[in-house]
Amino acid sequence: MSGAQALRIEGLVKRYETGEEALKGVSLAVSSGEIVGLIGPSGAGKSTLIRCINRLVEPTAGRVFLGTLELTALGGAELRRARRRIGMIFQEFALVERLTVMENVLSGRLGYVAFWQSFTRRFPPADIERAFALLERVGLVEHADRRADALSGGQRQRVGIARALAQEPDLLLIDEPTAALDPKTSRQIMRLIREICEERRLPAIINIHDVVLAQQFVERIVGLRAGQIVFDGPVEALDDTALTRIYGEEDWTAVRRRAAAQARLDALDEERLEGLA
Ligand code: ADP
Repeated sequence: MSGAQALRIEGLVKRYETGEEALKGVSLAVSSGEIVGLIGPSGAGKSTLIRCINRLVEPTAGRVFLGTLELTALGGAELRRARRRIGMIFQEFALVERLTVMENVLSGRLGYVAFWQSFTRRFPPADIERAFALLERVGLVEHADRRADALSGGQRQRVGIARALAQEPDLLLIDEPTAALDPKTSRQIMRLIREICEERRLPAIINIHDVVLAQQFVERIVGLRAGQIVFDGPVEALDDTALTRIYGEEDWTAVRRRAAAQARLDALDEERLEGLA
C-alpha cells in the first residue's frame, strides 16, 4: 500500500456498556512500513484501541481509515472484505493445533476462497505456492507438514506471522507477540516482524508490554494512559520523564538497569552459542 498515512485514526472514543471510557479521543496516523510500539500500563486501553481498528470492538465515536477506506463507515460484507486487509498476530499464536503448519498458513486465505474450497481444504495452487514462499521467509519450510502442536513457541509464532501475511494484508495488528516466549526467541520474533514490515512496506501497531524490547526494535512509541495518548515520538525521546508520564511514579531507572543487564547476558549467550555452531 502506498500513501503517507496508511492508517489514520481520528478522535476515537470507546465507552463500554459499564460506563467505562476506555478511549477518550485517540488520534494517530501510521505510515507504510512504520511500526508503532503501543505501550502503557494495564487498563490503559491498548487492546481496546487495537480492537476498535478492525471493529472487533465497536467504537462509540471517531473514525478509522485504512488508506482511503473508512473502516468505521462499513457494515456487513464490506466490513468482512476490509478485515481481510488487516493481518492479526496474537500472543498465544491462535493456531489450529491439530492441523499442519501448511494448513495453518493456508487458513490465512480462507477469506478469499469459496466456501466449498475451504470446506474441503482445497486451495488454488497459487495459494499453496505463496504459502511455501512465506514459510521459506519465516524459516519453517522444512516443517510444512508437521502438526502445529509439535512446534516450539518461537516456531508457532513464525507460523502465526506467515498466516497473517498469507492474507496479503495492508496493515498488521500485533497483540503482545512475545508474551509467551523466552527473551532470546522474543528478540528473534521482533526482528522478523520488523524486517517483514520494512520489506513489504507494511504499517504495524504492536501492543507490547516489554518496554526494553520495544526500544530495541521499534522506532516510534505511542504511550497510552487512561485512554489518552500521553507520548508519541521516536524511541530516543522515551526518557524517564516520558516513562513516568505513561506509567506513573515507578522507578524506571531500576527497571531499565535490570533489563540492560539481562540483555547483556543474553547477548553473551548468543555469542557463545554461535561460537559453538
Ligand atoms: P489494556 O489493553 O491497556 O490493558 P484494555 O483496553 O483491555 O486495556 O482496557 C481499558 C479499560 O476498559 C479498562 O479499564 C478495562 O477494564 C475496560 N474494559 C475492557 N474491556 C471491557 C469490556 N468488555 N467491558 C467493560 N469494560 C472493559
